Amino acid sequence: MNTPRVKNIVVVGGGTAGWMAAAALSKVLDRSYHIELVESEDIGTVGVGEATVEHLKLFNQLLEIEEGEFVRATQATFKLGIQFNDWGALGDSYVHGFGSIGTELGLLPFHQYWLKAHHMGKAGPLGRYSLNTLAAERGRFMVSAKDVPANSPLANIGHAYHFDAGLYARYLRAYAEKRGVKRTEGRVVSVQQHGESGFIESVTLESGRVVEGDLFIDCTGFRGLLIEQTLHAGYEDFSHWLPCDRAVAMPCERTGPPTPYTRSNAREAGWQWRIPLQHRVGNGHVYCSQYMSEDEATASLLSQLDGKALGEPRQIRFTTGMRRKFWDKNVVALGLASGFMEPLESTSIFLIQSGIVRLMQLFPRLGMSETLIGRYNEQAITEFERIRDFLILHYKATTRDDSPFWRYCRDMPIPDSLAENMRLFAESGLFFREGDELFAHLSWVQVMIGQGIVPSGYHPFVDQLSERDLLGFIQNVGSVVERCVNAMPPHQDFIDRNCKAPVPQM
Ligand SMILES: Cc1cc2nc3c(=O)[nH]c(=O)nc-3n(C[C@H](O)[C@H](O)[C@H](O)COP(=O)(O)OP(=O)(O)OC[C@H]3O[C@@H](n4cnc5c(N)ncnc54)[C@H](O)[C@@H]3O)c2cc1C
Repeated sequence: MNTPRVKNIVVVGGGTAGWMAAAALSKVLDRSYHIELVESEDIGTVGVGEATVEHLKLFNQLLEIEEGEFVRATQATFKLGIQFNDWGALGDSYVHGFGSIGTELGLLPFHQYWLKAHHMGKAGPLGRYSLNTLAAERGRFMVSAKDVPANSPLANIGHAYHFDAGLYARYLRAYAEKRGVKRTEGRVVSVQQHGESGFIESVTLESGRVVEGDLFIDCTGFRGLLIEQTLHAGYEDFSHWLPCDRAVAMPCERTGPPTPYTRSNAREAGWQWRIPLQHRVGNGHVYCSQYMSEDEATASLLSQLDGKALGEPRQIRFTTGMRRKFWDKNVVALGLASGFMEPLESTSIFLIQSGIVRLMQLFPRLGMSETLIGRYNEQAITEFERIRDFLILHYKATTRDDSPFWRYCRDMPIPDSLAENMRLFAESGLFFREGDELFAHLSWVQVMIGQGIVPSGYHPFVDQLSERDLLGFIQNVGSVVERCVNAMPPHQDFIDRNCKAPVPQM
């Protein structure tokens, strides 16, 4: 394939994906590259997406954005994990926290020792031994301390953010424009392809202006203007495993201090999120239209708000799945244009970040290469599939049978890869992370145990400890975590002291 050296990069779409891509590329590429971003205010952005995983810190570090500045600019609060209520069974509650649980001993992770103590009836819930979980439940937060011993839980506190993604995109726009990215307002009305290769040569705007490029980044949201509508890359539909296909979102006023965790309450045909920001609370109801109407979903959401509703409910439709090709010819799809797996574990913005980093690693400086494209797609597909399995786990690991939706989820066939992991864990408490997959074994362990898959066995090495030593170890970890959490300030105090955002102008 003989294609030109990449010099002109065109990002189509200016949502979170478009501006993250433009900002990152403007940071890492030298000024000989020309980057232009086309967006249409008439079309607008999806306008939801407020919770992240820990990795956004790394993205901001790459861009050399200071944490306090980011938090103030995006009205952010801190997130220690996600609280899941009513998922495994009605009345259940657990936290999937970032960071560690207890401490490893010898070759084994903490939960193996916990399992034995649990079966003896002598351990508290697993979350009792996780600093993130306990701090989340008590509304406390601080970033990792530098002035404590390296093995203190306070030295290694995992955190992510709740933030206003629209403000983040605005912030990144200023960042990117300062580094030479050209922003063009306008709706793309047609796309021109090379007659033989099918490569995209240019897009034409409503104004008649033609924007030419060597590499196009499709950030046009669900419509996938370039990757799907033009190149027909294809979509792998996950909705038989992840059946929710609608969401209604509605922010409300805050009525109390922000919790340092996202709340996810399972509902009759889906689940509801609550995400506290500094200036408001984000709420949404993700549901399956086969089992619930838009009116019912909206009424259910409105009845659960903490404070006064702000604005009108926003209805969103989606089909869970991923593109068959994330990079096709000279188009790389990022964000919703590349696929969507619902926001249960706040993975979409992470997937944008990961796609950008992958593109940087495999950047086609000398022109398009099937080798680079092949590797990109292989990695992206694996990443999506591993996250997909983790999300399906939340629906599958349930004993709920109080509604047709939950009966469907409980009984649905699941991918072999997930079935195998669930079986292995149920028997032995073992989980093996695959390659670079996002969620580490601690995430899987917390969700499996939290939703009732408590392994019948534990690793034989645990028996090297006498029962007395085992219980002493468990108790000691519990008291260290308790002491550390008591030393942490309330979440609101931490924000007030370090990164309080200005009150927004209405
Ligand atoms: C219900 C829901 C909840 C979510 N919650 C989370 C969450 O908590 N955490 C998380 O990480 N992610 C979440 N997400 C995902 C997150 O919202 C998206 O990943 C993120 O907003 C990126 O969107 P985007 O930039 O890909 O698309 P969009 O925001 O839709 O932006 C598309 C852009 O393309 C432009 N465009 C489209 N067509 C044209 C055209 N013809 N010409 C010119 N411009 C065009 C638009 O103007 C816009 O600028 C959620 C998504 C949904 C649906």
